Amino acid sequence: MFPASFAYVAARSVEEALELMVKHGEEGKLLAGGHSLIPAMKLRLQSPRTLIDLGTVPGLRGVRVDGDHLVIGALTVHTDVASSELVRKHLLGLADATSVIGDIQVRNRGTIGGSVAHADPAADLPVILTALNASFTVQSLSGSRSIAVDDFFTDFFTTAMNSDEILTEIHVPIPATGTGSAYAKLPHPASGYVVVSAGALIARQASGSCTAARVAIGGLGTGPLRAVATELELQGKPLTPQIIAAAAAKAAEETEPVEDSYAGVEYKCHVATVYARKAIEAAVERVKS
Ligand SMILES: Cc1cc2nc3c(=O)[nH]c(=O)nc-3n(C[C@H](O)[C@H](O)[C@H](O)COP(=O)(O)OP(=O)(O)OC[C@H]3O[C@@H](n4cnc5c(N)ncnc54)[C@H](O)[C@@H]3O)c2cc1C
Repeated sequence: MFPASFAYVAARSVEEALELMVKHGEEGKLLAGGHSLIPAMKLRLQSPRTLIDLGTVPGLRGVRVDGDHLVIGALTVHTDVASSELVRKHLLGLADATSVIGDIQVRNRGTIGGSVAHADPAADLPVILTALNASFTVQSLSGSRSIAVDDFFTDFFTTAMNSDEILTEIHVPIPATGTGSAYAKLPHPASGYVVVSAGALIARQASGSCTAARVAIGGLGTGPLRAVATELELQGKPLTPQIIAAAAAKAAEETEPVEDSYAGVEYKCHVATVYARKAIEAAVERVKS
C-alpha cells in the first residue's frame, strides 16, 4: 500500500518546525520516527499534504539529569532509552517498557516523544510513564508549558497537547532511595502491542512497609489508568506476597474495558490483576535500601 503523495520539509530548529506547523495548519504533520505515522499514511488513515521532519532538529535527543529529574529528549529512540545508563540506574521500569516495544527495527527508529504524542491505547510507554509520574514539556510559538501525565492522555489517540505544540522533553522524577519500578506486559501474539500491561513504582521503608505506590494499567481503557484501589491497598502495609496479591486483585476496579477482537472484558480484567502483581513484585524486588 502506498500513501497519498506529500511534500517533505526537514526542520532545522523547534522554532522552524513550529512556524511550519502554523503555515501548513491541518495539512501539515510532524514526523519523528515514522513508525506509527507512516503505517497510518500507507493505510490512508492519515493523508497529510506536508510532513515536517523533527529528526533533523538538533538538541531533542538524549537523557540527562536536571536536579531531581531525568530529562529525556522527545526524539530519543526506544533503544537509546532502554540502554541509557541513567535510565538503567534510576528507572528500570522504563528500561523494561522500552525493551519490549515491537522489534529491534521499531526500537531503533521509534521515539519516546512519538509514542507519547501518538497516545495509542495499546502502547507501552504511556503506562510506565504514568506509574513513574512523568510530565511533558510542550512548546508553541508563544512559549512552553508542562503537562502532568495524569492530565496528558485524554482519549483514544488524543492528548492534552494543542495542535500548535511540539513535545520537546519528558521529565521523570528520580525515585528516592528505597524505591523500585517495573513494567510487565501481555503482548498481542501477532503485533506485539499491549493486550494488558502494568507499571509500578513502589517505595518501601526499612521496616518493609510500603510508603508510596503508583500503579498504572494499560489495555483497559482509552489510555493508561491509575489503579487507585491497588495503590491504597498497599499504602502503609508490609509488602508480603499476600498483601501484594490482595492489592493487585483490585487492579481492574472502576475500569470499563471494552471487548476487542483479541480479548473479552472478563479476561482482560483478570490479566490486569496478574500483571499488576507481576509489576509490583518486580518493583519491590528492585528496592535497594
Ligand atoms: C511493527 C510495529 C510494532 C510496534 N510495536 C509496538 C509495541 O509493541 N509497543 C508500542 O508501544 N509501540 C509499538 N509500535 C509503535 C512505535 O513505538 C512507534 O515508535 C511510536 O508509536 C511512534 O513513535 P514515532 O517516533 O515512530 O512517531 P511518528 O510515527 O513519527 O509520529 C506519531 C505521531 O506523533 C506525532 N509526533 C511525533 N513526535 C512528536 C512530537 N515530538 N511532538 C508532537 N507530536 C509528535 C506525529 O505527528 C504523529 O501524529 C510499533 C510500531 C510498528 C511499526
